[in-house]
Amino acid sequence: MKISVLSSGSAGNSTYIETDEYSILLDAGLSEKKLSARLASIGRDIKDLDAVFVTHEHSDHVKGVGPLVRKHNIPLYTTEGTLKKISSRIGRIPSFAPIRSEEPVAIGDMMVEPYATPHDAEESVAFVIRHGDIKIGHATDLGTVTPFVLEKLKKSTALLVEANHDINMLEVGPYPWPLKQRIKSAVGHLSNEACGELLASANHDGLRLVVLMHLSETNNLKELATLTAEQALGERASKIKRVLAEQDSPTELLSISADPGLEQAFSSYEFPAR
Ligand SMILES: [Zn+2]
Ligand SMILES: [Zn+2]
Repeated sequence: MKISVLSSGSAGNSTYIETDEYSILLDAGLSEKKLSARLASIGRDIKDLDAVFVTHEHSDHVKGVGPLVRKHNIPLYTTEGTLKKISSRIGRIPSFAPIRSEEPVAIGDMMVEPYATPHDAEESVAFVIRHGDIKIGHATDLGTVTPFVLEKLKKSTALLVEANHDINMLEVGPYPWPLKQRIKSAVGHLSNEACGELLASANHDGLRLVVLMHLSETNNLKELATLTAEQALGERASKIKRVLAEQDSPTELLSISADPGLEQAFSSYEFPAR
């Protein structure tokens, strides 16, 4: 399997995931034009997408959905609650498939399981995606790492996890007080520290890739997020490829394999200096 986070952060989120045969997007928070350009930059054609899955109604996740599904006739998978919230904004949808927490959907050889997330949205979900022995655990836009979330993410080969803010930077930063409270709340966004706790709990011998997602440009620093994650992963950190998803450019197309032989290849990876 391969993935590329095309864009991540409050200005737009979208993640591309493929097997040899099928490909999907999680969220479409960029314009169709930008999504198309970012896919082209990793050598992929937007027309080949088999499905788009949407986590929740916030605009940084749905901005490009309408034009994307209409122009390329791509089926939209989201919860009834999310659809209700976005239908007036996104216009006509050629094909809609309702999804529900803990009810997996097959897209060819990929199984996509939505699971409910604690977030200030109508019926938000994140996803677990399986293909053969590979499991991708995705967790963004959630305020708390509950036992249910950890149960869903355990034994993942790759984890795509929110590291939204540094608690101290958020508290002393420029956001208005109500917005600070919303972000910090149990239905807001994960801090670096919460992300670290999640990684420490979900770390295991089969974990090969960690992508830090949805970083705030105001209330976080890449160095803080990566350091917290690295420390949380402990002695295994050097065996896990670690990547920071960016707002303005896609990550490389990252290969995910359950084959332990590849572990060596990743052991020399370093975070790019910033
Ligand atoms: Zn978001
Ligand atoms: Zn959100």
